[in-house]
Amino acid sequence: MAIALVWLRDDLRLDDNPALRAALEGGYVPLAVHVHAPEEEGGWAPGNASNAWRHRSLRALDDELRTRGSRLRLFRGPTLQTLQSLLAATDAEAVFWNRRYEPAVEARDAGIKRALRAQGVRAESFNGALLFEPWQVGTRQGDPYRVFTPYWRTALAGWREPRLWEAPAVWPALPDEDAVPHGVTLEALHLVPGRDWDAEFWQRFAPGEAGARAALASFLEQGLHGYGTRRDVPGCRGTSRLSPHLHFGEVSVARVAAAVRAADAPAGDVERFLAELGWREFAHHVLHHFPHTADADLNPRFRDFPWAPPQPRILRAWQRGRTGVPIVDAGMRELWRTGWMHNRVRMIVASYLTKHLRMHWRHGARWFWDTLVDADLASNSLGWQWTAGTGADAAPYVRVFNPVVQAARFDPDGAYIARWLPELGSLPLPLRYAPWEDPAALRRAAPEYPRRPLVEPAEGRRAALRAYAAVAAPG
Ligand code: FAD
Repeated sequence: MAIALVWLRDDLRLDDNPALRAALEGGYVPLAVHVHAPEEEGGWAPGNASNAWRHRSLRALDDELRTRGSRLRLFRGPTLQTLQSLLAATDAEAVFWNRRYEPAVEARDAGIKRALRAQGVRAESFNGALLFEPWQVGTRQGDPYRVFTPYWRTALAGWREPRLWEAPAVWPALPDEDAVPHGVTLEALHLVPGRDWDAEFWQRFAPGEAGARAALASFLEQGLHGYGTRRDVPGCRGTSRLSPHLHFGEVSVARVAAAVRAADAPAGDVERFLAELGWREFAHHVLHHFPHTADADLNPRFRDFPWAPPQPRILRAWQRGRTGVPIVDAGMRELWRTGWMHNRVRMIVASYLTKHLRMHWRHGARWFWDTLVDADLASNSLGWQWTAGTGADAAPYVRVFNPVVQAARFDPDGAYIARWLPELGSLPLPLRYAPWEDPAALRRAAPEYPRRPLVEPAEGRRAALRAYAAVAAPG
């Protein structure tokens, strides 16, 4: 039997993996390979938290493969040359992979496909990451969407129940195991951060396919019912926390959507959850059609926006959860300690950085990129531009989140703030949301906590609205 290389990247699973399926159904012996080549990812090589996750996810995938009598082979790039030498060493006839959609990676992969085909190799790519290809949904005129609601309405109208695939328990053995280059060890990829910063991540998350399956099962059992209301409350476990598993492709999004649709849960909760998956789809749609938006504003009016000059001290205070605004600081500390932050709080901290502190959204996007285990170029760029008001949104300018009002509304018992800022846990409500209102009580409870916010919420809001009014004015 001929060999096919199955080149695995952000699809670190066996279940419902179209590239693997194509190899097996095509009658090939699949040879699973991962090529580490961060320098080929443009300016967005994976950050530290992503690397830490990938390290564990690759190990988990290798374990899964070994239960089927196979294993994962790891290599260092350059990718094309690595694939070519593997083809030569193993006499493999085909290379199959699932598509990635980051602009630099898309361009690199297109070049690899051309080069392999030119040398007579069967090179095929598949959609293993999305419900809809980014180019599949468009307006009647064939243009891309810039606003979510009509995008998702059109996408849903074209919904086809996906054909899911289960990997067989055993598959054909390689004809000559010794002929296959061993590659490098996982440790040689140096993905683990130098210090023990990520230790707490793994109390919350279990990277790999089994961890993803468990997270989905737990969400279906305990989270889906009531998702529509609880999803906005960071103090409770109201969302799926599937984002890193989806980013690394440890579970197929089609599998998640099918499981949620089949669950015995209120239609409103199901619809709401599917719409969140829809935001992920929309993010890929926007990045595909507007590839510059990972680095530059979608809305060209922001070219001359008066962002504050870079101020390392202020940025550092925001990064480390020392702005003096409790809901912002709680979110930034949750991020640092767990590699993840609740969506509502992501919006609040991003709004505070871009609107109150008037720092360019790129500074925030970069910090998230390095510290989030679910860092994803499409979703991160969209999330930052949406919050900053520079991106794909119908009415962005007036939305300046007041962090005190947001905290009172979405953390009504103050549990989230108390969890991540235990030093403020003894302050009564509503003082816990705005402790500078009673300096003596704050000093007694938390002598180390900043006395005053970097920017007071109401004052920051007025200044932000003035700055935004200048670019919002039509014409
Ligand atoms: P759930 O509520 O359980 O949602 C299910 C899935 O839907 C998520 O796992 C995710 O894949 C998708 N999803 C939900 N909300 C969004 C959204 N607003 N945009 C895109 N997809 C969404 N998400 C990332 O995956 N990676 C990022 O780098 C990222 N950066 C963000 C930056 C900012 C400033 C903001 C405001 C949002 C960002 N998001 C990002 C979106 C969102 O915050 C996370 O997807 C969500 O918090 C993940 O938690 P969950 O899996 O429990 O979500």
